[in-house]
Parts: sequence; C-alpha cells; structure tokens
Amino acid sequence: MEEKKLNIEVIENSSFKPELIIPKNVEEKIRYLCNQVHDREWSGTLFYTAEGSFEEKTFKATCLDICVMDIGNTVTTVVTDSPDIVTYRIDHPELLNGTVYEGIVHSHHNMGAFFSQTDVVALKEDGNDRNHALSLVVDNRGKYVARITRKINKETQVHQAVETNTTSYYDTFNSKRVSLEDNIHSTKTNDFVEKEIIIEYFNMEINKATVEDRFEELATRLRNLSTKTTTKKVFDKTNYEGNLYRWYADYKDDDRTYEVPKKESKPVRLKNTDNVIRNLAIQLVTGSVLVGTNNFDMVKWLSKIDTYYATRFKNPKDYEVWMDTIMSYLFIDNAEAQVDDKELKDIDETRYLCEHVYDYIWDIYAEHNIQSKIVDDILDRLLDFCTL
Ligand SMILES: [Zn+2]
Repeated sequence: MEEKKLNIEVIENSSFKPELIIPKNVEEKIRYLCNQVHDREWSGTLFYTAEGSFEEKTFKATCLDICVMDIGNTVTTVVTDSPDIVTYRIDHPELLNGTVYEGIVHSHHNMGAFFSQTDVVALKEDGNDRNHALSLVVDNRGKYVARITRKINKETQVHQAVETNTTSYYDTFNSKRVSLEDNIHSTKTNDFVEKEIIIEYFNMEINKATVEDRFEELATRLRNLSTKTTTKKVFDKTNYEGNLYRWYADYKDDDRTYEVPKKESKPVRLKNTDNVIRNLAIQLVTGSVLVGTNNFDMVKWLSKIDTYYATRFKNPKDYEVWMDTIMSYLFIDNAEAQVDDKELKDIDETRYLCEHVYDYIWDIYAEHNIQSKIVDDILDRLLDFCTL
C-alpha cells in the first residue's frame, strides 16, 4: 500500500509536568562544571533512568551521571554511542544496565536557562531519532529547565471511493458535435496510509538536590579577577617567576641579553650631585617624578619591584611606553636642569646622569644580591642611553 509521509511537527503537551530528579552527585558535577567552564557552553551526555507512565501522569526520570563531551560549542546535539560514551559506560558499570538511558545536558553559562531556537531544533531532531529525548539546560546561577519528548507515530489508513461519469465527443464539419460515449459510470478506489510524526514535548518539573557550594565566593572572586585582566595570557600561571619571564620573553628581542655587564671603572662622581643622582634613581625605579625621596628605602623597593610592576603593567607594551617616556623626561628633556652646576660645564648631561644613576642602582642591587628582571632591564636601558 502506498505511504504518504507528512512533515514532522513539534508540539507541547502541557497535560502534566514529568519530574526530573537531580541527585546530589549529579548536581555537584553540574555546579563544578559551571564553575570551571563559566563563560562558554559545555555539553554532555546525561544518563538517567525512567519510571511511571505518561498516560497516568506519573512519569519521572532520575539522573545518574553526566559525562561532559564538549566545551565551547554552542551546538547542543551530542552524538550518543560515540566511542567516548561507550568507554565511559564501561568505566562506570552501573551505567551498563539496559535501563539506563542517555539524554543531553548543556550549559547556558551566564545567559540563563531556556530553550533557544537551536535547542528546539536539536530537540526535534533528537526526538525523531529516538523514542524519548531528554534535554536539560543549566546556567551558572543554578536555574535549570528540562524537556522530555515522546515520538507519536500517527498512521491514518485512507480508503477513498471515487465515482465517475465520463462523456466523450468530437466536433466535426459545420461545427457539428459527434458524441462517442455518454455517461459511462465507474467506481474507483484509492487506498493509502498517511504517516505523520509528532514530537511532543513535556516541560519537566526539576527536583534537584541542594549542594553546598563551598567555593562559590572564591569562584566569583576568580571570575571577577580574570575579567579585569586584559592580558590573561601573560599572568595565567601560578609561578610568579615564570610569569615575569614570559612577560619579558613576549616583548624583548631575542638577541637582547638579560645580563648587565659590570663596568670596569666608574666615572668620578661629583659630591654635590649625589642627591641629584639618588633622586633620579628613585624617580626612575618608582616611575614617579613626584615621589618623596627622604625616607625612600631603595633596597626594599628593588626587592619587590617585579611584583609591583607585574601588578601595575598588565601589558608589556604599557611598560615599554612608560619606560621610554620617563627615561626621556629624566635623562634628556630635564637633563640640563638636573646638572646645573658650575663644575659640570661642557659635559654630555644625558650620559653623565645615566652613568651615575646606573652606578647608584647597580651598587645597591649587587650589594644586596637582589634578583630582578625589571632592574636588569632598567640597567640595560641606562647603558643604552649612555651611548645615545
Ligand atoms: Zn542552548
């Protein structure tokens, strides 16, 4: 018999809300995933058992476990029975039971839990591929929505009886009509099956365990911090030394050396410029021309300078620009005013100041055995300035 297939329809059945039970172990996993992957979608297979019936409005599903399958993908469809899922089931024998079914769970992170247009399409496809498709959408705030489908196959047997009366004729010369057959009566039958598929979905009543989120405050704090930082890639390791090294490696030319050669001999420093040199050194290492210099502890500052700078300059480019600016100001634009001294006629002020500031910093640096990539860089720059 002929079959006629009609389009697949998706309709809501609001006669009741089947229950979806999310026990503690599953809820903990969902919370953990939302914390770990908080700004992208994650999706996975949701294992569940089913009981009751739709007709008696007693249907309920209980989640058993989640196997996360994808991160950062907005497409909700998860290929079930993939090798990953089979392996996961083998590793978790309780899921091998034939009465454990697979649904889909995915996160809308901070967008809120609802069925988007994409999710509706996915539910329709999934609902057509299997007897029941269960889809759970979660968000970071703990709001969940879920739907379960049933695939209704509607088959309509059509028996059509068609009665006909047929007349035939032709027109000839002089417009004369010649009748050949008149009122030939017949009865035809037309039998076929009209097949219709309706994906019916039920919005579920979610009943989830309360899970204490011990690190919620911490997670929120981390999130806030990570969104504040514009150059995440630079400071994303816990090892501070490693960070700074990478920070440098990012912007420094490879052929530039980090080792600052100790100069053989120092130029003679004039006594009355000692304070000028000290002030310049302080202004340089603090990056402030307004800094109070009286009680400034250079040793302490140099010991902590890498930490200060790492916090201050999230972007190495900012550091670079700032360094160029302050050095030009201190050692070029303002150089002549700094060495306004009768004893220092006809000298290269920039070179003079750079050499002395270099020595001043180097002495403290070497004497206290301070390790600092920023100080190394500053000394390096001072040497470069000497030869301008
Ligand atoms: Zn979605």
